[in-house]
Amino acid sequence: MEKKIDLHTHCYESTGDAGPSESTVRYIIDHIKSRGLHGIAVTDHDNPDYGFRVKEAVDRYFPGEVIIIPGQETRIQRQHVVELYLTDDLVFKFCAHPLFGKSFEEFIEKEGENIHGIEIKNGAWQLNETKVKNIAAKYNLLMLENSDAHSISEIGLHYNCIEMEKLYARCNGNGL
Ligand SMILES: [Zn+2]
Ligand SMILES: [Zn+2]
Repeated sequence: MEKKIDLHTHCYESTGDAGPSESTVRYIIDHIKSRGLHGIAVTDHDNPDYGFRVKEAVDRYFPGEVIIIPGQETRIQRQHVVELYLTDDLVFKFCAHPLFGKSFEEFIEKEGENIHGIEIKNGAWQLNETKVKNIAAKYNLLMLENSDAHSISEIGLHYNCIEMEKLYARCNGNGL
């Protein structure tokens, strides 16, 4: 079944709560639900642990209420790349708000094989959708729409309707 899921959010940068506490997690969950989403990926900058802590807190205090995918936003060369840590040690990687130009060409030629998706919509950046479509077709990338939320109220401004199996399939080299 398709899930409504925002795969790029900065929950630590939004709340400043490193724990996070039960009340912070409740606040995040309430916002996810108010947007009509099934879940989010928690992808703070250069912070591979925070998403796991949010997921653990949801599992402990509010099990099954929403989907939390742990992740982080990191850099490869000058591009921002989001990594999503799926189960079975699979890592789904996508190019966040592609910064087109010469450096993008170098990046995608070198890393295109290791990337599974690319954003076509991002709440914080205006993207050239025609270029994104061309790149996605050339490198067989899943096109994604995400909020890139830097405050909790921005979560879900953009989201994907997607079967989670599609993310797994891409990681396994199966471009379904
Ligand atoms: Zn970024
Ligand atoms: Zn971001």
